[in-house]
Amino acid sequence: MAQAQAQRRRNGNIRNGNGNGSQCKENDLLLLLRERSEGQGHHHVHRLNLTSSLNKGNNAKATIVTVLALAMAMLLLLFYSSSTSTSTSTRITSPSTTGTAYEALSVSVSPDSDAVINLDHGDPTMFEPFWKNAGDKATVVIPGWHTMSYFSDTSNLCWFLEPDFANQVHRLHRIVGNAVTHAHHIIVGVGSTQLIHALLFALSATATATHHPVSVVSAAPFYSMYPGITDFLKSRLFRWAGDATSFKVNGSSSFIEIICSPNNPDGTLRRAVLSTEAGKLVHDLAYYWPQYTPMRGPADEDIMLFTVSKATGHAGTRIGWALVRDADVARRMVKFIEMNSIGVSKDSQVRAARILQVISDGYELPDPDSTTSFFHFSRRLLADRWQRLRRAVEESGRFSLPQFSSEFCEFTKEHAETYPAFAWLRCDDESIEDCEGFFKSMKVLTRSGRHFGAGPEYIRISMLDRAHNFDLFVERIASLGLR
Ligand code: PMP
Repeated sequence: MAQAQAQRRRNGNIRNGNGNGSQCKENDLLLLLRERSEGQGHHHVHRLNLTSSLNKGNNAKATIVTVLALAMAMLLLLFYSSSTSTSTSTRITSPSTTGTAYEALSVSVSPDSDAVINLDHGDPTMFEPFWKNAGDKATVVIPGWHTMSYFSDTSNLCWFLEPDFANQVHRLHRIVGNAVTHAHHIIVGVGSTQLIHALLFALSATATATHHPVSVVSAAPFYSMYPGITDFLKSRLFRWAGDATSFKVNGSSSFIEIICSPNNPDGTLRRAVLSTEAGKLVHDLAYYWPQYTPMRGPADEDIMLFTVSKATGHAGTRIGWALVRDADVARRMVKFIEMNSIGVSKDSQVRAARILQVISDGYELPDPDSTTSFFHFSRRLLADRWQRLRRAVEESGRFSLPQFSSEFCEFTKEHAETYPAFAWLRCDDESIEDCEGFFKSMKVLTRSGRHFGAGPEYIRISMLDRAHNFDLFVERIASLGLR
């Protein structure tokens, strides 16, 4: 009887759940836990005993069944508490990006026709399984009396930069080989968003002799937040001037070009399109990490931006860093951050330092495997997603995706594909005028090309969401091809 009830509970969960089998098992376990902690387990036993008292001959039998059911539940509990993955059956055994050990990655989930799938934001929750597996290694405990002062290191130009965080930034760039750091100042910010604000101030504050606002440009399709970040406060120092490719450089006025490479939204590698003499260049390298693109050697620009949001998936920690060669520019950025937030959370920096440290340790251990090799783990997840998305898009016959050639990756020492954090999808079907609207009608929320300086035939889709949402999304596209 207890087994039958447990089965009914499981079935109930599967119906009420979101269609994700492993999630349902988790819910089951949560339910059992809750029942036990809230004392409902005892009610359950009482009910069984009451029923059995009507039939005393079955009493011993019912008790045995109950004990067996509880023992099974505890075994299941033990099994799942030692399991690392939440929403998929992902089990990684090798860091190789070519082997078959990862075949278990793809998850089959039954379509849930009612669920709204939000792939509008680039919320990097797909990396959660790695960090769950990291467990205590990546856990930070901060005693109540720590990190109380405003100051981190008063001898540093960036006085609110935590030394350990700075060390881990240097170390990770050295291991990955994606940026030189020795000749640069590190400026920490509340995400790279605050650093973009700080840079616009720092680069335009000295260029106001003409009293014309500095023009801020980026080649379309550009990251949809650049226009908003630039114009939100209606500054007299700078203003958004749109697509860099159509911007006319005028001798008397200055400009700032933001180069995002690999580019959000389309994943392409970018170089500046304007001459550097009249203007300043900001290189937003948020996605220049091995899970997204082959490493082509260390970037060595005057101003480079990185963020843990996209490097490690810790968007909620709100930590980014700028590598800035010029001390005056760095000083003005620090001034901006003083005025804006009197520094940057030390607690967040301590956490970010630990996260970066875990990744670096994973590659400096003598025998790394992919449970410790963050970039290999993440790359394999993205490769699997891109493969399935491309197949579904091809079968639909209505859409297209950018193509990328494979290149040698200096980090993995093998030829590697590009797996951008976003799919820049084009609706080729001429009956679809508004691609975003079309996907919305399928209950898939995406971001229209219009926000990126492109047309409504394009949408940007996040590839970084949790497995369950992504799987549902691919199934929805695949189902179009079946009509
Ligand atoms: N630059 C680019 C290109 C981005 O895609 C993002 C996040 N979507 C950011 C900057 C800002 O990142 P954060 O503020 O989370 O560090």
